[in-house]
Formats: sequence, structure tokens, C-alpha cells
Amino acid sequence: MQQNDPNITLISPEAPVAVNTHGGRAKCLQRLVRLDLPVPATVALSFVAVHQIAAGEVPDMAAMAVAFEDGQLLCVRPSSEDPDWGGPGAILNIGMNAARHQALADEIGNEAATRLYLKFIQSYSTHVARLDPDIFDDINPREEGALEDYLAAYEDEAEEPFPQDRDVQLAGVLKSMARAWEGTTARLLRQAKGAPADAGLGLVIQALALGVGNGESGSGVLQLVNSDSGYPQITGRYMSQSQGRDALQTGAEALYLQADERGPSLEEHAPELFAKLKEYAAVMRAKLREEMEMEFTLEDGVIHILDGVRVARTARAAVRIAVSLAQDGIIPVQEAVMRIEPRALNELLHRQVDPDAERDMIGDGIGASPGAATGKIVFTAAEAQASAARGEACILVRRETNPEDIRGMHAANAALTERGGMTSHAAVIARGLGLPCVVGATSLKFRTSKKQLVAQDGRVFHEGDVITVDGTNGQVLAGEPLMMEAALDESFQTLMGWADESRDIGVRANADTPADARTALVFQAEGIGLARTEHMFFEADQLIAMREVIFADDPEGRSVALQALLPMQREMFVELFEIMDGRPVCIRLFDPPLHEFLPTDRAGLRDLAEALNLSLSTVTRRVEELGEYNPMLGMRGVRLGITVPEILDMQARAIFEAMLDAAGDGEPVVSEIMIPLVSAKREVELVKTRIDAVAAAVRTERGRDFEYRLGVMVETPRAALRAEDIAQHCEFFSFGTNDLTQMTYGLSRDDAGRFMSPYVQQGVFPEDPFHTLDQEGVGELLKLGAERGRLARPDLTLSVCGEHGGSPESIAFCRTIGMDYVSCSPFRVPVARLAAAQLAIRDKIE
Ligand code: PEP
Ligand code: MG
Repeated sequence: MQQNDPNITLISPEAPVAVNTHGGRAKCLQRLVRLDLPVPATVALSFVAVHQIAAGEVPDMAAMAVAFEDGQLLCVRPSSEDPDWGGPGAILNIGMNAARHQALADEIGNEAATRLYLKFIQSYSTHVARLDPDIFDDINPREEGALEDYLAAYEDEAEEPFPQDRDVQLAGVLKSMARAWEGTTARLLRQAKGAPADAGLGLVIQALALGVGNGESGSGVLQLVNSDSGYPQITGRYMSQSQGRDALQTGAEALYLQADERGPSLEEHAPELFAKLKEYAAVMRAKLREEMEMEFTLEDGVIHILDGVRVARTARAAVRIAVSLAQDGIIPVQEAVMRIEPRALNELLHRQVDPDAERDMIGDGIGASPGAATGKIVFTAAEAQASAARGEACILVRRETNPEDIRGMHAANAALTERGGMTSHAAVIARGLGLPCVVGATSLKFRTSKKQLVAQDGRVFHEGDVITVDGTNGQVLAGEPLMMEAALDESFQTLMGWADESRDIGVRANADTPADARTALVFQAEGIGLARTEHMFFEADQLIAMREVIFADDPEGRSVALQALLPMQREMFVELFEIMDGRPVCIRLFDPPLHEFLPTDRAGLRDLAEALNLSLSTVTRRVEELGEYNPMLGMRGVRLGITVPEILDMQARAIFEAMLDAAGDGEPVVSEIMIPLVSAKREVELVKTRIDAVAAAVRTERGRDFEYRLGVMVETPRAALRAEDIAQHCEFFSFGTNDLTQMTYGLSRDDAGRFMSPYVQQGVFPEDPFHTLDQEGVGELLKLGAERGRLARPDLTLSVCGEHGGSPESIAFCRTIGMDYVSCSPFRVPVARLAAAQLAIRDKIE
């Protein structure tokens, strides 16, 4: 046969077969042929040939037939470019007809021959002639005369006899498979999996290894690793007198491969064949540089290898497999790093719902923080704390969360909110805590005042009912499905170590508390890129002191109240410095509007009046005075630093004293202090003057010298535009892409969840810009800010500390504009490290 016809070619070591012209299966078979493995004769049809067949061209049957002996039974399998894109099922036993049936009956017995013929008639009539599958329902295939009845039923329905000519049968099979691929449903299905609209299908026609007959005959599949764990384990089944993947059907009387307590095995039944199969699988692993599932058939004791497919695997198995291939010298270390999809690490970092578990979904929303947790529903932060105190797992269900809920979130095992998007309060806090979280779950009704959660199907859940929040895919489930534990094992650590060797952009963590900092270290962040100091103030003892600050009548009164906060802040900073042990810690000055610290209900106001020894009416009036129409654009960030500078004085002092305390007799770290929400150069000048004064005072009081670096959070568009001015007064910029996205779009980060879905579905935004950095708009401001900042100060350190810092696409962008590091929630640090390493490796390869 023609070896140089790329459209219909016998698969030989030299044949012109490629994945993008003939599909992955054809290419893999060629690799097996090159390895001298016992692959039956196989012809590959290219995408072009199959497309022509679908369009009605008669295939060149003669060209195909020369590869096979007369009367040889055949099978046809699909070969798409990516196995995940699916394709029509294989059709076996092509070529069965009266004569072949007779010959086979003489060879392997009438019963076995009839079984093959019946199987073929059935699949031909369904897939090729497109007859109703139930036309054979009344015929018992094991009874005498079944074959005649099958043929009669076919003829009756198709109005022609069952074709006897192998070429006619094969042409029919090829046409039906080609057309099935081009059908609308199949196209939509594969496009949903990322296939291009014009993805091609190749087909492979293979001489059929019977699997039925005398001697040891049968079929099976074998792989060398466990698909869930990735650990070495010979896995698969074999069944005597069977074909294809029959052995894998549940209830099939299949043998284990390796000797197994649970039942008989091929190893005991045919030890030499088993040993040979293992040997072939090891060759495939070493030479195809991948864990493969081998499909094999035994024919009278002779092994045929029909196919090799990449072993299906969970994310944790993928990591172990990649690492062990590299450790065995089969692939280079950098290739192992490239083989793992960074986001897939989430599956290792958190508990997950077992992929095989049944899911009783009651609603869904935006998966804002990955992982899954089960617990009893609670509707308030206080109940969450009470529940945690009783040792009971709970899920905090709120319409939305606010800073007062933080302690509840710490206590809860997961959070679920009706409102919000990827950067709403609940989402940001949950990611920081590594807490599974679903936000914007508008498919559920939150009747929180009645303590009810109503499912989309009408079921009502009450306080104490058990639900599961799956933050990986945004689902809310009733009850407790089977879970899979996190897996930060040795392979994970090894892979991450290799990733760090290639990485050329730094990765720090956003960490506000000692617990966060410890998590950041577990994930090997290089430092803290953002410590949001205000979160500390929500601890019970600090909250009261903070309220006293807010209620002080004048700067002196405020300073007195702040004296109470100073030691608490200092202790917290000492802990952060100690935990980070010399690594950089970037502390952001107070950011949120003051009124966030005030009670919102009457009982809270009364408690506050009591604590401050003021009248309820005074407290209520003061709270009202502090109210703003638009607090996120109001008196917050550096604006507080300018108008209520005593707070920043106290924070600067706490930082400097903590640096010295943490250093003991050693060299103090160079701390980094960052000013939020800057929009004008003068703001930085004013703040710098005050901080310098505090530094000078502390130096004098302590009699010790120390350094600090001042930085600006670039999170207003004006700060990016005026970066050249602003950079003159600071040493680093950290882009706060959460606020910068909010302000660039004029889109509230707390409300965007409500309309983000229709906006993305209708293509207004390609993605949620709070989730994936908008490179065109917000990105342009980053680029501009970076360029202008470095004009004024070429050694300006640049970073991103918004939530985008943990997203692989955003890291790619940050790297191209010359950022020094990204900073993200601790649980996203490994994803960022791996994504950054892959970018560097890709650059080196290309
Ligand atoms: C930001 O705005 O991107 C940021 C990191 O700060 P926060 O989320 O605290 O406003
Ligand atoms: Mg911000």
C-alpha cells in the first residue's frame, strides 16, 4: 500500500502520521510500532480523509484493504487530536458474514463465532443502519436460531439483507463515524471542552485480535499506577473470551491482573503472559514518557497490544506521576513542572468532595475560595463561634459578610453568601483563611431573619441542618458527601522545589495574622506582601479600644485611647516578624472607613454606650455623623492618615518598636510600610514626614538605629497616572488591583456579583475582571504606573497585591511589565509559584 499517501496510510515506523493530522491515537500506535510492540496491522485515515468521507466521497477501499488479509476481521476506532474531545465509539468485528462465521465456527466453536457475529450485527444496525436498538429485544442470543433471527430482524427493519461484503460494511462504518463527528451535538459538546469549531477526526482501522477462541484468549487493560493516588500499583482487569473493554464492565467476570486477595488473577492463571504484559507496559512508560493504560488482547496465548491511552488521573496523582517520571530520569525536571496545571494544585491544598460521591445540589453561586466543607447551618457570626466552641463544624450562611463577621468566619468551616463577587469581603477573607466559600448564590433564597435557607427546588433548610459548601465549583450540597483529604505530600514538595529553581518573579503572601503568616510559610512564600492591619482591630479587645479612638473628642483624647492599642499592635507585629524570620514583611497602614468599626443594631449601640459611659443618644448621633453615602470612596485609606494622623503615628511606632523587639540583639529587619488609597503626591509627603518623625523619636528613645522602606499602594487610577510624581517619595509600589479594578470600571467590588454572570455570558466582559485581570484597561494602568514610577526611580520595587496576584494569567502579565513579585492569599501561593515557574520555563524553551 501507498506509504506516502498521508490520508490513508499503514502505520509503520516511517509513515507520515502526526497528532494534528491523524489524531492522538494514530500517533500513539505509531510510537508503539516503533517500539516493536506487538500491534496488529493498523491503517490510519487522516482528518482530511475522514472529512471527505463525511462529505459523501466514497473512500478508497482498495487502498485500505491491501493492509489486511482477505477475510481478516477489522475494528475501527476514533483518533481525535485531544482524547478529551470524545468521538464515536469503536466498532469491532467488521467483516463478519456467513462465510467467516462458518470458518470461525470450525476454528473456535459455533457458540463463540456466533457471539462475535451477533455483536457485530447489533452495533452495525444501531450505528450504521441507524435502526432502533430494540429490534433484537425479543430474541435470546443464547438460544438456537438466534443468528437467523437477528439477520431476519435486520432485514425486516432495514428492508435489505445484512451486508456480507467486508468493504461495504467498512465503508458504512467509516461513513457513520465520520458523520457522527460532524453532527451538531457532538460539535457543541467538544467545543464546550475547548475544541476548535473545525477540529478534525482521524480513524484507525485495525486487524482485529479476536480475544475469543482456543488457548488463552481474552482481553483487558493494564496500567502501572493507581489513578487516584499516582502510587505504583498494577491496575486493570482481564477477562477470558472477551473483546475490547468488556473486562471493565461492572459485573463482568473479570480477573485481577496481579495476584489479589479479592479473587483470581491473571498472574496466577497465566504468569508468563502477565510478566510479559508488565514488561510491555514498562517499555511504554519509559519510551512514551508517560503513564499509559495499555489495551491488550490475548489470542491463543499470543499478546496483541491494541492501544495505549494516557492514564486518567486526579490532580494529586498527576503530581506524583510527573515527579516519579522525572525522578526515574524519564523526563527532565522542568518538563515535570510544565506538566501540572497550576490551578489543579487547589485539589491538593484543600479537602474536596470525592469525585465519585453523589451530589445532592441545592443551589450554586460563584466558587470564591476552593475546597469543600460540611457543617451545620448557622446564620450569624456569634452562632458560628458558639458552634466552634461546642466543637461542631458549621457553615456560616449570610446575605453578605462585613468586618464584624470575621470572627465568625474564623470559627466556621465554610461560608456561603447571597451577595458578592470574587473580591467581596467574604471572598477575600475566605481565601485568606483557606476557607471554602461560595458567594453570589442567588439561586438560593436567604431568609436569614427566619433562619431559613431555601433551595432552588423549594426544600427548606433550617439552622442546624447539615450542608456542604463546595468552593471549588460553586455548588451547595445537602448533607455530607464523601470527602477527599488534602495532600501536601512529598511529591508536592518536590515539584514545588523544582518550580522555584526556574522561577524569576517573587511570590509573597497576603497575611494579616500570625496564623496566616504560618500558612504562608508552609507554602514557602518569600515574605508578606500585604498585611492589612485593620483586621487586627476586629479582635474583641482591640475593637473596644478602636471605638474609644473613634469617639474621642480631640487629638489628645484620641492619643490616649490609641495608647491602649499600641501594645496590642506591637505584639502582633512582633509575632509577624518572628514568624517570618527575616523575610520581608510589608505592613499597610489603616485602610477602611471608621464607621465599619461601629455597631449597626440597637443592642450594639447600647453596649457601646455602656462601655464608653456615654448616653445612647450621643453614641447614636456620633455613629450617624460618621455614616457616608459612599464609604468605599470616602474617608478611608490615606485620607484618614491625613485627617486623623494619630492612628498612623501609633501604627508606625508599633511597627518600629516591634522591629527592634523582634530583633533582640540581632540586626532588625528592614520593614516595609505601605500607604493605601493614595491619589496625590502631597499625601505621601505628609505621611512620610509624620512617619519619619516617629522613626526619629523611636531611634532616640531606644538608642538604636533601623531602616524602613516606605511604599504606596497604587489602587486609584490617579495614582497610576501620576506615578512619576508619587515615586519620588517612596521606594516601592504595590498595585492594589482590587480597588484599581473597582475604580477603573466604576464597578463596586461588593455588588458586581449580581450582574457579573449575564455580563460575562453576553460577552460584555470576557471574564469577571475581579477574578482575571483586565489587561486591556486595568492592565494599561499597571503598565503606565510601572513605567512612570520607574522613570522617577529606576530601582522602584514593583508588585501586585490585589487578588489577581494569585491568578496564573495575571502573573504572566505582571511578569511582562517587569514586576518584582506578586502577593496573594497564602493558599494561592503554590499556584502562583508553579504558574510563575512555567512562564519562565516557557520563555527559555521558546
Ligand atoms: C486592593 O485594593 O487590591 C487591595 C489589595 O486592598 P484591599 O483588598 O484591602 O482593598
Ligand atoms: Mg484596596
